Amino acid sequence: MKVQSLIVALLLCASVLAAGQSQRFVTTDEVNEKLYLDLHQSPELSGHETRTAQKMADGLRALGFDVATGVGGTGVVGVMKNGPGPVVMVRTELDALPIVERTGLSYASKVKTLNDAGVEVGVMHACGHDAHMSSWMGTARLLAAKKSAWSGTLIMLGQPAEETVSGARRMLADGLYERFPKPTYVLALHDSADLPAGVVAYTAGVATSNADALDVTIYGRGGHGSRPDATIDPVVIAARVVLTLQTLVSREMNPWNPAVVTVGSIHGGTRYNIIPDEVHLQLTVRDYDAKVRQHLLDGIRRIVRAEAEAAGAEKMPKVEIAESATAVHNDVALTNRVMAALRERLGDSNVREQKPVTGSEDFSEFERDGVPVLQFNLGAVNPQVWSDATKSGKQLPGLHSSAFAPDRELTLKTGVTAETTAVLSLMGK
Ligand code: ZN
Ligand code: ZN
Repeated sequence: MKVQSLIVALLLCASVLAAGQSQRFVTTDEVNEKLYLDLHQSPELSGHETRTAQKMADGLRALGFDVATGVGGTGVVGVMKNGPGPVVMVRTELDALPIVERTGLSYASKVKTLNDAGVEVGVMHACGHDAHMSSWMGTARLLAAKKSAWSGTLIMLGQPAEETVSGARRMLADGLYERFPKPTYVLALHDSADLPAGVVAYTAGVATSNADALDVTIYGRGGHGSRPDATIDPVVIAARVVLTLQTLVSREMNPWNPAVVTVGSIHGGTRYNIIPDEVHLQLTVRDYDAKVRQHLLDGIRRIVRAEAEAAGAEKMPKVEIAESATAVHNDVALTNRVMAALRERLGDSNVREQKPVTGSEDFSEFERDGVPVLQFNLGAVNPQVWSDATKSGKQLPGLHSSAFAPDRELTLKTGVTAETTAVLSLMGK
């Protein structure tokens, strides 16, 4: 471990700042800063990351990677073979969110575009994928510049459409594990709005939740609002459904099994005096265990159907799963190995263990065929702002918030340092 950390230090020291605590980190040189600002100001929606993918592909090619584009949509795969050793894949996401940025930053995104439904939306890197790409490219650059320090095959993976949990699956379906060297390990980082910049955090084992997005359509029989007796009112059925669903977690779950059932959207009807024919609900369901997941999905179908039957509905409701993501399981041995290297590099107090989150990710797709994966978190909040908020209890803007503004410099420095160190802990000579 000592020799390994010496190599890591040597590799990184060329770009280390002259003084103070910054010595723990590489510097964010001009190129990365420019890349970040460019990516931040030109975000693209899920599945439409054409210019972003091009920038990633061009960057990797310039560093000497063999680059394939258009993998599973707009996916990018850069391969650098450098002797015998493990195949380490490092993943970044390429996509941004349909949010109007309200950070007030001088370099805020002003991008507007049409979404898939043809509606004009703002576009913002509110999940910080611009920071992931910048860290990823910085890592590729450092490793390409010092090939004598490592041995094996490095694969830099740019994944589209993470926010719609579809991009990883599409890349795998397009032959990611057959057309390119199959990874021994897959690594990724994700920024965090709950941690100060300069800090990384990890969860060994289950780290994110299973997530299912459901569309529910409740059918009634519409008519005049003054003649409810001549109708079957789907608004009333939907209202009962929303309330009965609350009992799934509170009355049917073992309290040691965390779970969430949220009705995020309910739409039906057009005006005061018309009872509509149908009502549409959209649900998100979160949990950490396959049995719990099945119980919740079965329970939703059971409750929706029973409420429709209770109201005498003539047509049973439709329940469809629109999107699904499986929980990320960070391989425990891999996690311990990488975190030992990160502790040496960043200092013990800057590497923190954390509980699983109720967020979800399609990074779990890369676990296919038993490939060990690790995704760790990268603090992104200005340390002073974070410590003030922790003292006062003030809620800071979270990921997917229009006000989410990472502490750019320290976040990127830590991202490049941590990701490079993580790769070298697996491939370092
Ligand atoms: Zn996100
Ligand atoms: Zn994200």
